[in-house]
Amino acid sequence: MIFQFPEKFNPSVMPEGPTIVILKEAVQPFIGKEIRHAEGNTKNIDISNLQGLKIIDFKSWGKHFLICLPDYTIRVHFMMFGSYLINLRKSMPPRLSLQFSNGELNLYACSIIRIEESLNKIYDWSADVMNPHWDREKAIQKLKKHPAKLVCDALLDQHIFSGVGNIIKNEVLFRIRIHPESAVGLLPSAKLSELVDEAVKYSFQFLEWKKEFTLKKHWLAHNKTICPRDHVPFHKKKLGKTMRRSFFCPICQKLYDSQPINLFN
Ligand SMILES: [Zn+2]
Repeated sequence: MIFQFPEKFNPSVMPEGPTIVILKEAVQPFIGKEIRHAEGNTKNIDISNLQGLKIIDFKSWGKHFLICLPDYTIRVHFMMFGSYLINLRKSMPPRLSLQFSNGELNLYACSIIRIEESLNKIYDWSADVMNPHWDREKAIQKLKKHPAKLVCDALLDQHIFSGVGNIIKNEVLFRIRIHPESAVGLLPSAKLSELVDEAVKYSFQFLEWKKEFTLKKHWLAHNKTICPRDHVPFHKKKLGKTMRRSFFCPICQKLYDSQPINLFN
């Protein structure tokens, strides 16, 4: 099903994987179309050469949006402040605007680069939580290789959980009752599996709720002040090496931070 943008749809800044999936669905009508006109202030690609090229496909890998052209790919990364509009424009100049006979795609404040290599060579599709090739076993193996990593950093590691951003991180950890500063290597194996599976499950829920414009309504922890389970204030801190905002409950989110005592040693 192609997602239809309402008249004044303005996606949030700092898109996470599901928001890029919505973009990919929304631009399907431009596949096979010729670029009639291209403009923008990106210096990383030669915009004057785009006119007349046909769109072969649109793909995504986590937070990367990929515009596949006959001989190369344009990679769009929305970073912290990037955004996109379809058939609408902002007053600010676009980084890249592609116009077709049936509409236009406008990209703002994003990073754009040209990729020459085959996408299968550079992208590990099995690391993308929303890709049909997602491999949960591989993700578990990758996590086991980084036992000292904090879960709040592990979830944001795009080589393990491509597409997961800060909202997904906070919601997943609250749902499975894990404190963000827990070390990956100290999680019991059932908890590790739960972490991996919930990252996927919540990403797809995020997608559905985002399409219904009810995403924020469903937040249980992200940007919230009180734990709905314990009715105590959430702690709000910038944690881990990634230093992104974490919202967590000191009561129901368990901290796995010390080695279990071996009674037989
Ligand atoms: Zn709680």
